[in-house]
Amino acid sequence: EPSVCAPLPVLGRDVAVPLVTGGEVTYAALDQAASAPALQRVWDDVAAYAPYYGSVHRGAGYLSQLSTDLFENARRTVAEFLDCRDGDEVVFTRSTTDSLNLLAAALPDGCEVFVFETEHHAALLPWRRAGRVTFLDAPDSPAQAVAALERALADRDPYGPALVCVTGASNVTGELWPVRELAAAAHAHGARIVLDAAQLAPHRAVSVRELDVDWVAFSGHKLYAPFGSGVLAGRADWLREAEPYLAGGGASRTVVRRADGGVDVRWHETAARHEAGSPNVIGAYAVASACKALTEAGFEALAAREDALVCAVREGLADVPEVRFLSLFGDDAPRVGVLSFVVDGWNSSHFAAALSAEYGIGVRDGLFCAHPLVRRLLGGDTGGAGECGAPEPGALNAIRVSFGAGTPEEHVARFVRAVRELVR
Ligand code: PMP
Repeated sequence: EPSVCAPLPVLGRDVAVPLVTGGEVTYAALDQAASAPALQRVWDDVAAYAPYYGSVHRGAGYLSQLSTDLFENARRTVAEFLDCRDGDEVVFTRSTTDSLNLLAAALPDGCEVFVFETEHHAALLPWRRAGRVTFLDAPDSPAQAVAALERALADRDPYGPALVCVTGASNVTGELWPVRELAAAAHAHGARIVLDAAQLAPHRAVSVRELDVDWVAFSGHKLYAPFGSGVLAGRADWLREAEPYLAGGGASRTVVRRADGGVDVRWHETAARHEAGSPNVIGAYAVASACKALTEAGFEALAAREDALVCAVREGLADVPEVRFLSLFGDDAPRVGVLSFVVDGWNSSHFAAALSAEYGIGVRDGLFCAHPLVRRLLGGDTGGAGECGAPEPGALNAIRVSFGAGTPEEHVARFVRAVRELVR
């Protein structure tokens, strides 16, 4: 049995919010899959560095040198955190969405892309430059996911480039995907694979080497480092050969005016190629700080704690038949601390609003930027629910509760009590 650690200290533990019934209560942030509060340690590190802030790669002064060192050290920390291979690149981006769009912009000509319909839109939609995109149906089990991918890849041109994009943990059901097996299937058919670790990296150790994935993407703000940075890490070749994601200073090594009046550019070949503009050193530093803090806390202990919180919700609501949890692989499938559900007889938006107004609990309602998956799990029409995060009023949607390394047990107990009371 791995030991269960105490909640890690985070900001916002004492924020009081008003209740519609009068009085106030400390806010229970149970929407950590959307964005997680900063770890106290991350905040302290950022505050300690802030007076020394300077421009990265662009100054001869002491603080510029210091900031450049911190930025490049942050890259190394992230590479260690992800257990990257020698020669892998770590590119600092704005977010997972940005990272996956960067990779999409770097696809070789004619690259085929394979993606399950169950993905978050950030992983589902960026592949417009691809030669062809194959959307695979939602599987019923991890084994079926691997078999479906095998079948799809068997039909492809084995000599052309191909990429599989897969989530490590679903942002809707929290379920873990068989990443290692999917990577093996991809590689057996000459394809590459990128792991969307937006929901996995905050909760489980991610080893690029062990999982044998070619790239991994995650967001700082879901990893307790909400300072505007994300990461794309992995194989250097496609990134090196691609046009820069953004054109500008920092990405260009030399620019010269030609005799005919145009300009010739030589671009950098390392991560800087895709990091044009002044880098967000505070964001990168915060991500590195979070990586260190999570590694020190230990993912086994963090995962054991989160399992206990998931268990508390499942057991606390087991005798409430109106509450139905959503899952692809079955209710007992291993998952991170993310659960979605519907409540019979309730509009999900109203239910989430009541949790906030009457109990000071913040959850999310909607389709979670994964419309095809939620639509499938709900087994019905979503009522034309439109924009990401803003379904039509009254549309069929779900409620998501999600935990993080700083979630106290009291918040989960309050959530269970609130759901029971509201259903009654
Ligand atoms: N992938 C998954 C699985 C996610 O949960 C999210 C965020 N909800 C994203 C990608 C996109 O992350 P971001 O909004 O930070 O770009």
